[in-house]
Amino acid sequence: MTAPIIRNRDALREIVTGWKRDGASVGVVPTMGALHEGHLSLVEAAKARADRVIVTIFVNPKQFNNPDDLAAYPRTEHADAKLLVPFEVDALYVPDGDQIYPEGFATTVTVAGLSAPLCGYHRPGHFEGVATVVTKLLLQTGADLAFFGEKDFQQLQVIRRLATDLDIPTEIIGCPTIREPDGLALSSRNARLSAEARMIAPALHARMQAVAKALRQGIPATEATRQAAADLVAAGFDSVEYLELRAATDLSQIEHPEDQSRLFAAAWIGGVRLIDNIAV
Ligand code: AMP
Repeated sequence: MTAPIIRNRDALREIVTGWKRDGASVGVVPTMGALHEGHLSLVEAAKARADRVIVTIFVNPKQFNNPDDLAAYPRTEHADAKLLVPFEVDALYVPDGDQIYPEGFATTVTVAGLSAPLCGYHRPGHFEGVATVVTKLLLQTGADLAFFGEKDFQQLQVIRRLATDLDIPTEIIGCPTIREPDGLALSSRNARLSAEARMIAPALHARMQAVAKALRQGIPATEATRQAAADLVAAGFDSVEYLELRAATDLSQIEHPEDQSRLFAAAWIGGVRLIDNIAV
């Protein structure tokens, strides 16, 4: 059976209040829909940890800095609901626009520092949009646990920070990136890749792994990443937006791997922007 679809904040609250009264823990998996195995892995993690699971679908206009990207973003609610059937989630929250941004809405959540580099630098306003909508979804669902993918590692760190800073009592749980067999990280945007671009796209992860190896051998990050970016363009990528080694906790840029560091990349191919990151 498909999960009940709830479009109204107060209706959701009533259901969650009932669950909590019965002593059940509540997990939430926030998404923008167009669900794939990456999202489903979060749902699986949520089912394993929480008594009740809510999946949210909301294509958040505030996090798109490019109107064409927003217009082209896939919307597949019916297929999404069907994909979730085997997981037996307890509710699908698909809020109407005014349930998130009612008339007169004027508040923005800004996470300084962590939002500044990488995707924050290249997509102005993106993390304000993400931080604002996630804050609202955590408060509206009242979830005890919330599940996010490491695929969007900077986003995960931004969300951890805002939950801590704003005393939101939801435990934020990061889950590993799910990939195609050829290494390409699953993403709703992959559907927009042409057949040719799709064949070249796995080079991003392959190059990142080669850079990680070079870094572990002591090659400085600026040197290793410069060559890899050139290789990606030679392989058919339009451009490499960033390819940088950073500390995993505060995202400061570093030249050599530390205790917890990650390599972050964003690159364009065939008009589609791909992002990825791996532990080094
Ligand atoms: P989105 O619908 O793109 O906003 O993603 C919703 C959630 O799914 C976010 O927490 C993402 O980090 C996560 N996610 C997206 N792609 C993947 C993936 N390939 N592996 C794991 N989690 C993912």
